Amino acid sequence: LPAADHPLLDGLNEPQRAAVVHAGAPLLVVAGAGSGKTRVLTRRIAWLISQRQAHPGSILAITFTNKAAAEMKERVEELVGKRARLMWVSTFHSACVRILRKEIDRFGFKSNFSIYDAQDQKRLMQLVATDLDLDPRQYQPGALLHWVSNQKNELKDPEEATREAHNKLEETYAAAYTLYQRRLREANALDFDDLIMTTVHLFQAFPEVRETYRRRFRHVLVDEYQDTNHAQYALIHQLCADDPEDARPEAERVAPAELMVVGDADQSIYAFRGANIRNILDFEQDFPNATSILLEQNYRSTQTILTAANAVIGNNKGRKAKRLWSDAGDGERIVGYVADDERDEARFVSQQIDELVDAGRRAGDVAVFYRTNAQSRVFEEVFIRTGQPYKVVGGVRFYERKEVRDALAYLRMLANPDDQVSLRRILNTPKRGIGDRAVECVTLFAERERLTFWEALRRAAEAPGLATRSLTNITAFVGLVEELQSMVAGGERPDVVLETVLERSGYLTALEESDDPQDATRVENLAELVAVAREFSDDPLPGPSADPDDVDAGLVTPGLDDFLERVALVADSDQIPDDPDDPDDTGVVTLMTLHTAKGLEFPVVFLTGLEDGVFPHSRALGDQTELEEERRLAYVGLTRARERLFISRAVVRSAWGAPSHNPASRFLDELPVDLVDWRRTEAQQTSWSRPDLSSSWGSGSSGPAYGSGSGGLGAPTASGRRNFSAAAARADAAAKAKKPAREIPALELGDRVVHDSFGLGTVVTIEGVAEKSVASIDFGSEGVKRLLLRYAPVQKL
Ligand code: ATP
Ligand code: MG
Repeated sequence: LPAADHPLLDGLNEPQRAAVVHAGAPLLVVAGAGSGKTRVLTRRIAWLISQRQAHPGSILAITFTNKAAAEMKERVEELVGKRARLMWVSTFHSACVRILRKEIDRFGFKSNFSIYDAQDQKRLMQLVATDLDLDPRQYQPGALLHWVSNQKNELKDPEEATREAHNKLEETYAAAYTLYQRRLREANALDFDDLIMTTVHLFQAFPEVRETYRRRFRHVLVDEYQDTNHAQYALIHQLCADDPEDARPEAERVAPAELMVVGDADQSIYAFRGANIRNILDFEQDFPNATSILLEQNYRSTQTILTAANAVIGNNKGRKAKRLWSDAGDGERIVGYVADDERDEARFVSQQIDELVDAGRRAGDVAVFYRTNAQSRVFEEVFIRTGQPYKVVGGVRFYERKEVRDALAYLRMLANPDDQVSLRRILNTPKRGIGDRAVECVTLFAERERLTFWEALRRAAEAPGLATRSLTNITAFVGLVEELQSMVAGGERPDVVLETVLERSGYLTALEESDDPQDATRVENLAELVAVAREFSDDPLPGPSADPDDVDAGLVTPGLDDFLERVALVADSDQIPDDPDDPDDTGVVTLMTLHTAKGLEFPVVFLTGLEDGVFPHSRALGDQTELEEERRLAYVGLTRARERLFISRAVVRSAWGAPSHNPASRFLDELPVDLVDWRRTEAQQTSWSRPDLSSSWGSGSSGPAYGSGSGGLGAPTASGRRNFSAAAARADAAAKAKKPAREIPALELGDRVVHDSFGLGTVVTIEGVAEKSVASIDFGSEGVKRLLLRYAPVQKL
């Protein structure tokens, strides 16, 4: 081994150093969480460049997210200087896009091909299904796409899929796949899975192209190798394995690149996207003469946290047991809390954060994890109310999510039919056969007759040029809206209106019938929105339009207008950026799903929603394989914590406004009892049905939110609202006290975004990192714009 005092080996233990300086044979570094795998990979890149004179352009490093890539690049640049910029550090998808932009013309595509996202794919598959005359009940686009995605991850093109089809069903799927690919080609487009498959096929079809890249990339490094799928594995193999088809004499062949992969089978959490845990388990068979290095010391967490995580993952069968230890000391015990409901849980988290901050912690040290995106909503609301700055990573903030905006657009349009934007937004959402041409006809008609868009829709029969089918569909839509309007006029509760809207519009059914995992998330988010509306409707807080006498008599039924107004207040508060370089900036609390947390670490972690049916997810309860995947996710979550870990669950949690009682997560039973300090147990619960006024929307911290001029805020009718505004204003002021710079959206190629003035777009290229990242975004008729993401008002959809 080179001298341990070399600056690039500083702060590494012996096996870590061995991995950094290893030369030659393929190298596998397997190790548990927090043992320095990513650190070793980063140092190795620096070592290759500075000690082994590797040209930075000959290095290909693969990370799981673009964010991780940006950080790694930055870190290497700190170590070896600016020439590090020539390396390729990116996700598999981004690397393949780069290759394909150069080479794909050989396959007859133009180099400016578009990348289709999930929505585009679905639209296309719907067209395909229609063309093939498939019964939509039997062949849903989501299911077809899921099947197609599996084929692509297995590198099977339509011909092979067709050859392998053995029954009617498979034949139909294969036919859909065939036509889908043809349509993509006609549109000069690739979907996400195509990016990898096409690159692999290109290398197979054109050995000289593969040779170019084999010559170019002398070093290939892959982080999070346990989450690679077969296509990604094949790509690595093509670049780094001996080429059996190469008949040239040994001396003329290009030696394969040096390969290093790092990973942890216990952290494989993307099987639902085709990740194959066998890739890491079989590495030594796949790459004969491979070297393996095991890291056993964890540098991230206290022994208490580590023991807890090891105990949980120890329940998975058929894994290689690992000895992972830490010399960070035992640290504090894990703190546990059993909450009455999800709001109580969020309040507990918020109080604990307050105490930690009072004791000198930075808010930026704290992360809150949950299983599904929808769970962020309640934390967001409590944090907004208490003025606790926060950011949501890897997901769109609750009220900015497409499905939530769609649902609210329905309500807005019902409350105000003149709200054209909302009306147009939902007119054909879900698809009800009112196409662009029909909208154009109605718009022209409205202009000519000086009608509002809504009036024009109602009189669509008089609109010239409107196809009969469109007219029928518009008439049905108008009928639906009028029926819903009469519900609102009759004083129906907002939650009932919302549920009816989601049902009757077909919005919910469309999502539920889909097989796209994203759509399942959307259903969960809508359930969450119904819970919000329900809470609001149950809440005696009067809205702005309430009559004070009615309030006193307890007669208030908050109306739809009131609901929309309150939602607007929550939705408007800004995200607050975190500037780690500013010593006065204490940062913001980070909210994210467990999947997003992979690879990250935080001094303080709150792991929430530990209930059977939430985490582990209800889908996994009866399925051993899925349950083990959930347990790996728990292992990932627990091992993100460095010093303090808080775990919590709620006895009652609302979904679809209906409270459900979930039993404690089985993962809680797997924790050694002596490691957890339960601050509150189920036995100590107060009755969960207690009306909890202090938790209601926007009220102050105690007592009923309305009544005898609470807080001297004036008439009781408005007090709730004003209190609420005050909380929002506090959050706002906190935001303004910081710099107005925006959170730089973490964009990936192909992401759909919305820009304040250019509207919807698709990301086509990304250059630069962090502050300097610039994206070219295709805004359709608005053209392609190059935007400095730090300032551009774009939001990922
Ligand atoms: P994960 O499995 O979660 O991806 P990992 O194995 O990639 O974890 P790293 O993130 O590289 O682990 O390292 C975990 C933490 O330990 C980091 O803060 C890192 O800087 C630190 N660390 C790693 N090795 C050492 C070491 N030899 N001495 C001190 N700190 C170290
Ligand atoms: Mg890592």
